[in-house]
Amino acid sequence: MMRPTILVCAGHDPSGGAGIQADIEAIAARGGHAATAVSVLTIQDTANVIDTQAVDSAFFCRAVDNVCADMPIAAIKTGVLANAEQISHVARLKQARPDVPLVVDPVLAAAGGGRLADDAVGHALTRQLIPIADLITPNLEEAQRLLGCDTDQTSCAHELAKLGTSALVTGGDGTSAETESVLETTDGQRCCYTSKRLAGGPFHGSGCTLASAIAAELGHAHELAASIENATAYVHECLANAATPGNGQPIPLRTQAS
Ligand code: PLP
Repeated sequence: MMRPTILVCAGHDPSGGAGIQADIEAIAARGGHAATAVSVLTIQDTANVIDTQAVDSAFFCRAVDNVCADMPIAAIKTGVLANAEQISHVARLKQARPDVPLVVDPVLAAAGGGRLADDAVGHALTRQLIPIADLITPNLEEAQRLLGCDTDQTSCAHELAKLGTSALVTGGDGTSAETESVLETTDGQRCCYTSKRLAGGPFHGSGCTLASAIAAELGHAHELAASIENATAYVHECLANAATPGNGQPIPLRTQAS
């Protein structure tokens, strides 16, 4: 059976917890094939980001174009993008393929608080990529940074949906007994996804895992609501089986060993 190819444009995390490695594992676990163009290299451990280095944008763009010329893309997922050039390249790619779903995880900081992108990246995402995305998956802090506000998940999802995309504002980073993610779609439908908060969090790479699992589901041509439900259940299992290989946050178990 053909596995849908999901183009991932994201950063590398040497701890293996987040970024492109999380994306590859989640997409494979959801029956997809991840084709990956690395946007940013990081020095990072399971506790925090120490430094970042953008991949040369012309090189990144050529890597994207080359792989897209080789294989049909069923969905696109973005994580950290380094600058406006990388962002506008992904935007052009989507504009040339309006039927290919685009999931934007607007990663701006790591769970440990270390910055992965500056405000210029947030502005370029808001102007160029978010309006043409099928779904964005910020956590509450990222949503607030993108919008320049300090309102709750529901209002953030509402404001982001006004930009022209469905918005899933995740709430995994809080401390309440349950985690809630709020979806608002472009046609004004609102839906909440609630799960029991698991002990041991925050989990390193949980946002990447969710966004990639959704992209894989969309690559299988599943509807948005079903894709989010399936991916949310999958992420819950990954977090329930997380391990702590380093001195920082636990890493989700995205692949079950046979
Ligand atoms: N992408 C990269 C390259 C990262 O290093 C990180 C976090 O450390 C993330 C994305 C975001 O990770 P999370 O899924 O924990 O939000």
